[in-house]
Amino acid sequence: MRLSDLRALSRRNWLTVVAGAVAIVAIVMTLVWTGRHAWAIHKLGRGVGDTVFYDAAGRPWFRLDEQRRDVPFEQVATAFKDAVIAIEDHRFYRHPGIDPIALARAAVHNLENDGTQGGSTITQQLARTLFLSNARTFGRKAREAALAVMLEVFLSKREILELYFNRIYLSGGIYGVETMSQKMLRESNNAAAVLLQQQMGTGPVLRLARDLGVRDQPDVPSLALGSGLVTPLDLTAAYAVFPTLGYRVRPRGLVSVRNASGEHVAQVHVERERILAEPVAYQMLTMLQDVVDRGTGAAARRYGVRGAIGGKTGSTNAYRDGWFVGFSSAVVAGVWVGFDQPATIGNGASGARVALPIWSDFMRRVARQLPPQPFAAPDGLQSQELCRLSYARPLDGCPTYIEHFKEGDDIPSRLCPIHAGSLKEHAQRAIQGLLGALSRIFRDQADL
Ligand SMILES: [Zn+2]
Repeated sequence: MRLSDLRALSRRNWLTVVAGAVAIVAIVMTLVWTGRHAWAIHKLGRGVGDTVFYDAAGRPWFRLDEQRRDVPFEQVATAFKDAVIAIEDHRFYRHPGIDPIALARAAVHNLENDGTQGGSTITQQLARTLFLSNARTFGRKAREAALAVMLEVFLSKREILELYFNRIYLSGGIYGVETMSQKMLRESNNAAAVLLQQQMGTGPVLRLARDLGVRDQPDVPSLALGSGLVTPLDLTAAYAVFPTLGYRVRPRGLVSVRNASGEHVAQVHVERERILAEPVAYQMLTMLQDVVDRGTGAAARRYGVRGAIGGKTGSTNAYRDGWFVGFSSAVVAGVWVGFDQPATIGNGASGARVALPIWSDFMRRVARQLPPQPFAAPDGLQSQELCRLSYARPLDGCPTYIEHFKEGDDIPSRLCPIHAGSLKEHAQRAIQGLLGALSRIFRDQADL
């Protein structure tokens, strides 16, 4: 063998050795990194934990964050959990930590708009918050994806959500997920009411209010939020339109007057006037029933009110007024709590807190004499079971409710995109998505 051959061989060997060493170092570093994080994630699963400082004698001294209290998963309102999943990551229950569909969509968006849309799942957001910096580099994105998959391997979806709510939502300085979900719902509702009023114009709203006996309301955009003044009697009377399925009833102070010999000398007749069509009144009635069955008036059930009832809470700025107006098939009652000269009743004195208990107590007693009957749906309505979260056609496992549609209403046809459903429904939804996309393409072609 010649010397030059030996040299060539050793050069090749050296290259192999160097490449091998680099590979081994990379593998060891990856293993160490993975192992360290796997251990950290494993510990996360055994309680959300906190950093505890120990004194010289080895006894626990104080916690890093005394203020932090983790909210157990069961105590977070279901509607809030569902809402966060719907907004942040609606395929949460179906992806393994990273969502290829969301990633692809974000990549396309970023290419087209030169942006930095994330496409991050709830699990990725949690991985980033727990373990990574906020720098937007490719390396960090890859580590985030790896950590997200590891989180999914070591923790259940439920544990991931619990950590997510406590670490991400609570770190925003809002004390308690519950507080926040009440805040979101109130905001999330007010905006919708104002938008609807803007689309319809104030005129029809004022006209309907007048028809219902609520007069002298201001012609302003915040009318839908209740910026006008109203008396308890007028407001309570206005709610009679729902259990009567469309009739306004003028309140009477007296029903009849009899003289000493028992003869009627005066009789005050019920004045009724149809204001709403039956199907419209019934749709409103079911919405107001939802307020009591799973909305802001739900405490009425805890106070012992039974049967078919509906109603609405009301609160004003700085808790100056607390309202609850509600009805059964037999009675309409309104409660207003406040001071003669407007002043704050107390911190957190919402309608649900101060007026609803009084209303519930009254309704519970009245029910002994006038038991509530179920409300029957009038003709001309079609009932449809829907997913309570997506308001789409339900799949296996969707929490459902019954929605009533009158002629001309849009009845949802697409299947729930949030819940998993059975394998068959999965396929059905995929086909529906494909057909929808195809029909959009053909429609766009036809438009051209
Ligand atoms: Zn659903």
